[in-house]
Amino acid sequence: MSIEEVLEITNWIENVDGDDVYVLGRDMKEGIENLRKKTILEKDNCMFSMLSKDLEFICSHVGFSIAFRPVGKNDNKQWIPCMLYKYEGEWRRVLFQYAHCLKCDWCGNIANPTDPDLYITMNNRFEILKKMNQLSFCQCPKCGGQLSSKAIWIEQVE
Ligand SMILES: [Zn+2]
Repeated sequence: MSIEEVLEITNWIENVDGDDVYVLGRDMKEGIENLRKKTILEKDNCMFSMLSKDLEFICSHVGFSIAFRPVGKNDNKQWIPCMLYKYEGEWRRVLFQYAHCLKCDWCGNIANPTDPDLYITMNNRFEILKKMNQLSFCQCPKCGGQLSSKAIWIEQVE
């Protein structure tokens, strides 16, 4: 996305892992409405169809936001979305994954902050990844065993 497109949605800047990113929070009604309109107009564009799902997700789940992170150099900068989750007081970039328990039959959706793609554009990505791998991770909600992926959030299924 171009900076003009991002600014129609949000002008809230947060420093996440040393990168200034634009953040769309679940209580930002106007930005959410603007992004919703955009995803309808651009429904054949796969980035916007993913954003449409992310948008519904942040509206229905506490603690999540959408970030637009910079990629590329000064005159050719683009902004790509990723999910943020507030964990232990700090925003963390996360990737949703389907994980299973290494000990029992539990499986479900989780948010993983240790996927290298989340940090690929950053100079200090190895340092950040090392730090992310040291977070305290969720255990299996059923037996307390280790999960197949590193999770800082587990979807609660009623
Ligand atoms: Zn288990």
